[in-house]
Amino acid sequence: MSHEPLAHQDEDHTAAGWLVAERRFEPANLGPLESIFAVANGYLGLRGTPEEGTPARDPGAVLNGFHETWPIVYPEDAYGLARTGQTIVNAPDGSLIRLFVDDEPFDVATARLVRFERVLDMRMGVLVREVEWETPQGRRMLVRSRRLASLEHRHLAAMDYEVVPLDGAVHIAISSELVTHGPQDASDDPRRGKGFADKVLVPVEARAEDQRCVLQLATRNSGLALACGMEHDVETDGAISMETSAEGDGARLVLLADLEPGQPLRLQKYVAYHWAAQAAPGDLVARVDRTLDRAARDGYDRIEWGQRRAVKDFWRRGDIQLDGNDDLQRAVRFNLFQLMQATARGEGFGVPAKGLTGRGYEGHYFWDTEIYVVPFLTHTRPQWAKQVLDFRCGMLHAARRRAREVGHSGALYPWRTISGDEASAWYAAGTAQYHINADIAYAMHHYNRVTGDLGFMLDQGAEVLVETARLWMELGFFSERRGGRFCINAVTGPDEYTTVVDNNAYTNLMAKENLEVAVRVIEWLEARDPKAHARLASDVGLTAAEVEGWRRAAELMYVPRHDELGIVLQDERFLERKRWDFEGTPPDQYPLLLHHHPLELYRHQVIKQTDVVLATYLVGHHFSEEEKRRTFDYYDPLTTGDSSLSACIQSVIASEVGYPDAALDYFLDACMVDLADAHGNTADGIHIASCGGTWLALVAGFGGLRDFDGDVRFDPRLPAEWGRLRFRIQVRGQLIEVDMTHEDTTYTLLEGRGLLIEHSGEQLRLAPGVPACRPGQAVAEAA
Ligand code: BGC
Repeated sequence: MSHEPLAHQDEDHTAAGWLVAERRFEPANLGPLESIFAVANGYLGLRGTPEEGTPARDPGAVLNGFHETWPIVYPEDAYGLARTGQTIVNAPDGSLIRLFVDDEPFDVATARLVRFERVLDMRMGVLVREVEWETPQGRRMLVRSRRLASLEHRHLAAMDYEVVPLDGAVHIAISSELVTHGPQDASDDPRRGKGFADKVLVPVEARAEDQRCVLQLATRNSGLALACGMEHDVETDGAISMETSAEGDGARLVLLADLEPGQPLRLQKYVAYHWAAQAAPGDLVARVDRTLDRAARDGYDRIEWGQRRAVKDFWRRGDIQLDGNDDLQRAVRFNLFQLMQATARGEGFGVPAKGLTGRGYEGHYFWDTEIYVVPFLTHTRPQWAKQVLDFRCGMLHAARRRAREVGHSGALYPWRTISGDEASAWYAAGTAQYHINADIAYAMHHYNRVTGDLGFMLDQGAEVLVETARLWMELGFFSERRGGRFCINAVTGPDEYTTVVDNNAYTNLMAKENLEVAVRVIEWLEARDPKAHARLASDVGLTAAEVEGWRRAAELMYVPRHDELGIVLQDERFLERKRWDFEGTPPDQYPLLLHHHPLELYRHQVIKQTDVVLATYLVGHHFSEEEKRRTFDYYDPLTTGDSSLSACIQSVIASEVGYPDAALDYFLDACMVDLADAHGNTADGIHIASCGGTWLALVAGFGGLRDFDGDVRFDPRLPAEWGRLRFRIQVRGQLIEVDMTHEDTTYTLLEGRGLLIEHSGEQLRLAPGVPACRPGQAVAEAA
């Protein structure tokens, strides 16, 4: 896999490791760079298209959860299939500031560029571009722009656009626009998602006055309401005139100016978005006005200052430092930065698979959130983890409904969704991935243990654990043929190249965990707060016998193993399938899903993404060390990594079982997924799960962190190629810094009163102001 980045390290060494830069305009990488240079804040995202609008592959704004619905039509129908598709809508694009100099349009694709530089500054959370352009008349113009999706004001994106004629007087025209782009091209790539043949936004009202324009729109079928608007502030000594207009689904401000050489014109543009499923008439427009009023009052500089402060705060807990390689340092930060951009201000929403950097996977929420993103949040920004988990709790009602639909009690969370309803039209790799229930329960339990946020469990977590546990009892049964063991048939595990199988080990182990945790939480609740327990029991009709049933099922859970090979089987018949002909598969046949019928994949031993290997990480206590290694040895050569959710976990386990080279290679694969466009689809958005997985590979892989039960254990294994790895994690309100070198590992308690941790099996008590230093496990060695 190529690790060659599309965008390079900046030459400013004081900023080493903080800047993602494009030093030359690179039209060949247009699509991926739109995602890489997207700015987002968890609520809204603007693709990294040029202000001037062209060239662009997939321009637009992405608003978390703002989607259109459409009927899923099955040529051959069946009972209980998902009925309604949900697709994220391309919201009106407020990033446009078209520039004309002496009537000539500025377009980076055709312009004579004397200098071009575009930089994502991850210290500040700002995208900066500086271009020197020679117009067809030979005038040299300096064009500078900055833009951000505000972390402080989540409905706001702000831009600062400056034009300076360098060597002669010019007439300029600027058209600042809010544009609803037309339908997207349809695509056969299932990862991309559905396009719409027509515009899905229906104009309701358009208003323009002074320097402000506001649009009100609604989605055609889902009936969601959106208001968006833009406000401007112009600074120049030159002579100017301005006019705004708004009509239908578009609006513009046109500004004419005469500038002398060296005379700058600065346009500050504020763009606001508010959407709601239901809103009183005029309400959203009023909210847009309020956001714009405040932005205009503050001004761009102050907004950017607020941004820097918020980003700095993020890095204080979230940064990871590597010594020895600036490129890699920058790539690591890029992944972490994307996690921030995907979640920070997403209150009330989930984390889409592509964050808000693109519309790939239709803006859906998957298990990616709970298994790949939440661990990072739990350890660096517990509040964001809670907001994401609260959102899942809020979907419980829909999950209960879905369980009834498919004939079960309890709750069945949708495999992919925006609204809470199942939106997967392919049940074999959709609804059959029941493990999502256990993944959600797992993340809630882990969050609870690591943060100590008991209130979360009391208020809503416990109910989710009960309802998810219930589903397993309906899916599985005590099989006489297997000596009374609890078996779960007809499910799909994480590996989507093997579907609808019996006793998928990942699913069974995670279900076991789900059941055990539900029992523990119910017992805890009963002991700690009998009234709350009684209330919950009566609300959900819970009996002691039912809880006893969960305990038994968990105890007797069947996990398919192969004694001779010493491995856990992905599913009970996995070994009966023929091995895929990897040797005879040319590289251009990957990802296999785009070149082979699903049934061909299903009948082979070929794996899209880690499955049992993921279980050896998440529920590692069910495997012996030897079994983990053998399991990794067996499945690793079968794993294509066609899903970006794979490499990071292979890295974690390769670290654990003593394969440092593989650990580093897989880490690089994960870390460079987007910067190198390694899967060829970064144009559709950043792979957020892999960003979270990159954090896991560093902290759980090289740092060896394990703390599923709340006890914090490290097992540092620094790659030989690196001089140092330093990260921070938060545990029950205490902040620990872990500083790994080849000589030693130092644990420092930066916040908190004291904590017991484990370093390579040895217990250490961390106290404030007393760093604990232990000789390092010098260089990880191959087994
Ligand atoms: C993977 C899923 C994942 C989804 C969204 C698919 O390719 O197989 O596990 O949830 O992408 O990232």
